[in-house]
This record gives sequence, C-alpha cells and structure tokens, in this order.
Amino acid sequence: DEDAALLSGVRELTPDELPDSVLPVLAVVGRPNVGKSTLVNRVLGRREAVVQDTPGVTRDRVRYRAEWAGRPFILVDTGGWEHDARGIGARVAEQAEIAVELADAVVFVVDATVGPTDTDERVVQVLRRSGKPVLLVANKVDSPRDEADAATLWSLGLGEPYPVSALHGRGSGDMLDAALALLPEVTAVGGVPSTGPRRVALVGKPNVGKSSLLNAVTGTDRVVVDDVAGTTRDPVDELVEVGGRPWVFVDTAGIRRRVHQTQGADFYASLRTQAAIEKAEVAVVVIDASQPIAEQDIRVVQNVVDAGRALVVAYNKWDLVEEERRFYLEREIERELVQITWAPRVNFSALTRWHVDRLGKHLATALEGWETRVPTGRLNAFLGELAAAHPHPVRGGKQPRILFGTQADTRPPRFVLFATGFLEAGYRRFIERRLREEFGFVGSPIEISVRVRE
Ligand code: GDP
Ligand code: GDP
Repeated sequence: DEDAALLSGVRELTPDELPDSVLPVLAVVGRPNVGKSTLVNRVLGRREAVVQDTPGVTRDRVRYRAEWAGRPFILVDTGGWEHDARGIGARVAEQAEIAVELADAVVFVVDATVGPTDTDERVVQVLRRSGKPVLLVANKVDSPRDEADAATLWSLGLGEPYPVSALHGRGSGDMLDAALALLPEVTAVGGVPSTGPRRVALVGKPNVGKSSLLNAVTGTDRVVVDDVAGTTRDPVDELVEVGGRPWVFVDTAGIRRRVHQTQGADFYASLRTQAAIEKAEVAVVVIDASQPIAEQDIRVVQNVVDAGRALVVAYNKWDLVEEERRFYLEREIERELVQITWAPRVNFSALTRWHVDRLGKHLATALEGWETRVPTGRLNAFLGELAAAHPHPVRGGKQPRILFGTQADTRPPRFVLFATGFLEAGYRRFIERRLREEFGFVGSPIEISVRVRE
C-alpha cells in the first residue's frame, strides 16, 4: 500500500535518532506536593535538588526527552502551575485536562501518606472522561511498612496503585515498566515522510489572533481528517488546505477552545506552545502588529529557534496598523528580532483575510530552507574562498584556520567545521551570514559547530 511504498528502502532509525516529534508522550499529573517534580527528576536521572518554582515565573522547560529500557519517550512535567483564587481543585483538574490532551498516557501521582482527597477524585473524573490510559502511582511509600497506605488508593477506581518512593527510588523501575507499557510503539520511520502533509504549529501569545487565523485558513476548505489515512495520529491535529496543499496543523484543540486564557495561565500557554513546536516541522509565530512587540513574542520566537524548527513570522491585525505604527513596528523588529532576519515574514489580517492566502507560500519556503543540503565539495569551495578573503582574526599570536567543513544534518541544517583552533562567536556568525547569502536557508535556524584538529 501507499505507506509501505513510502517507507520501503528506508532504514529503521535507532532509538537515539528518532526525532522528538515522533516519540510517545507521558504526562505526570497530581496535586501540589505529592512528589511530581521529584518523580520527574528521578525518571530523568537528574541529581540536582527539586527546584522550587517561584510563583508567577514562567517555566520554559516542561517537556523532556527521557529513556527507559532503551525506549525514548517525552515526559511532560505539569508541576509548575500556581495557586489562584479558584482554588486548588479547579486548578488541578484543569492541569489534568491539558495533560490528557497533549499526552498519550498519564501518570497520576497521589500521596499515599495522605490518602485520596476530594481533589484527587476530581482528577479521576477528568482522566476517566478522556479515555486515555492512566497509571496510578502511590508516592511516598518509602518502606515496606508504608505499603498498606498505598492500598487505600484502590478506592479511586483506577486499578492497582503502584507504590513508589520518588525520593529514594523504591519501586520506580516497576512503575516505569508499567507506564511504558501504556504508550504506543513508535511507528514512524525517519519522522514525517516528505511526500505527506507537513506539520505546522500556530503559536504566539494570547489574543494575537491564532484562532482567527485558524478559522480563516480552515474556512470551507477544511478536509475531514479521516479522509487521509495515516496522516494524523491525534484528534487535536487538523488537516487544512493552504495555498493548494494540505498541511497538518498540530495541537489545534487548545487554540479552538480558548478556555485556559485566564490569569495565571502562562504556564499552560508555555506547555502548549512547546508541545506544538516540537510536534511540528515549521512554526508560524503570530504577532499582533498593532501592539508593541512584547517579551513574550520574543520568547516564542526563541522557542522555535531553540527547537530547531523552520520559522515563519506572521504580523496580524494589519487592518489596525496605521502609517505611524508601521514606522515604529519596523524599528521594533530591527531592535528585537534581528536574530531572525532570515525568517519569511507575512503581514496579514485574519479579520479581513487580507494576505492570509500568502501563508502557504512562506511555509513551503521555510521548509525548503530547513531541508537544504549543501554538497561537501561546494561547501568547501565556498569555505576556501571565504577564509582567503576574510581570514579569522589573529588572537594571541595565533590564527585559527578552517581545514574543511561538512553539512552533517538537515532539518535544521547543521554544519561541522574542522579548524586548527577555536573559532570565535563573531566569526561563526559571519560564516552563518555568508552561508545564508550563498545557499539560502530561508526560514531555518542553522547550527555551526567547530572541531579543533591539530
Ligand atoms: P510536586 O509539587 O508534586 O512537584 O511535589 P515535589 O516533588 O516538589 O515534592 C513535594 C515534597 O514531597 C518535597 O518536600 C519532596 O521532598 C517530598 N517527596 C517527594 N517524593 C517523596 C517520597 O517518595 N517520599 C517522601 N518521604 N517525600 C517525598
Ligand atoms: P488568539 O488568542 O491568539 O487565538 O486570538 P484570537 O483569534 O482569539 O483573537 C483575539 C482578538 O483579536 C479577537 O477579538 C479577534 O477578533 C481579534 N482579531 C484577530 N485577528 C484580527 C485582525 O486581523 N484584525 C483585527 N482588527 N482584530 C483581530
């Protein structure tokens, strides 16, 4: 069949080579202080003490690549939320809802020394409704004589509680075996086949117009996802036609529902954004052009770059942008977003649909840049000319020379340069600029690493 044809002749990737975007996702949920962070740290094998989160500070890292018994997976840590006026119960239930939406399976942590609480019961309801597989973990079972505590959790109706001590590691191996058994096997080979629809994340701070843009592009061209077998694995993704091509817009459920934009929801926004970016090949960062560019806009752009995804920057609400604002906007872009001058830019209005149709072209351009491969011969001819015309500055009587280079990877392009000494950051940036002038890489971050050879 078609899938088989696509995949034939393609070598199976080793677990280490599997991109994050194809890995199954396991989320850890539970009340505050039950030991979620301790458990996450245990799974990740981190030795450092649990970092106490400062209220009001957004944590950027919430998804981690983890491995157990040779199987890589993504671990989502939902421990970073804050208390608010609505009370703990509502907050924890909301957290569980999001975790369920973004994960393939859920580890529900309960404090065995406390026993089941009303809040735990609320979480159970959310988890039940979702139909996702759940592993019930009875934490703080530090010794055999605490096991009786764990037994009280049978009453939650989620089956057998797994007694663990996240603090000391007791029982965590068995628990992980059980958790991994709930996750689907990775079936993708080499990530997303290049002939299938490409995966797009629509990201940006609240109220910039993500949901309006999604509505504008879906409109009547919406394709029923079931029609194209095997293209999406997740009901939160949508297949959409833009610029005459189908695209998978990932994690759209949160954009459509708009339920978590209450005060203090920064953490959820960050969780969602990161999840969407990592599932996608190209991200559209939507920015409200009628407002000053904010710290949060810059952070989302940085998330995309750090994740090594292709990037399109979309300035929305252009219908509100007057002459004077246009002037200030350009200054702000020059000041705040100089590091991504390589990203395709579209000015549009989701409201009037002006220029919405241009998005497809930019997405395609960015993906092309992301996948560009420069043959080694051409690269070295280029590096030779560059080094002859602009040698590395002399430092301390020494002048590092580039011996040769190779493009080690695409998606995004990664270069390895072999040199006789360390190349300073300014020179590496200069090389990046010239690489872009010569070979394009429009819409893609580039990584350059240097290996020193005597
Ligand atoms: P979170 O709010 O759910 O992320 O909980 P933390 O991981 O921050 O843990 C809350 C407190 O419980 C900390 O003081 C931990 O040291 C403690 N704790 C976590 N796991 C265990 C455990 O297995 N046994 C005991 N005795 N204490 C634990
Ligand atoms: P999201 O939170 O990023 O999904 O943003 P929404 O799509 O919900 O939009 C937030 C607000 O901005 C809503 O009131 C929209 O009607 C408005 N909005 C979105 N796009 C435009 C636009 O192009 N022009 C104008 N004037 N308003 C817009």
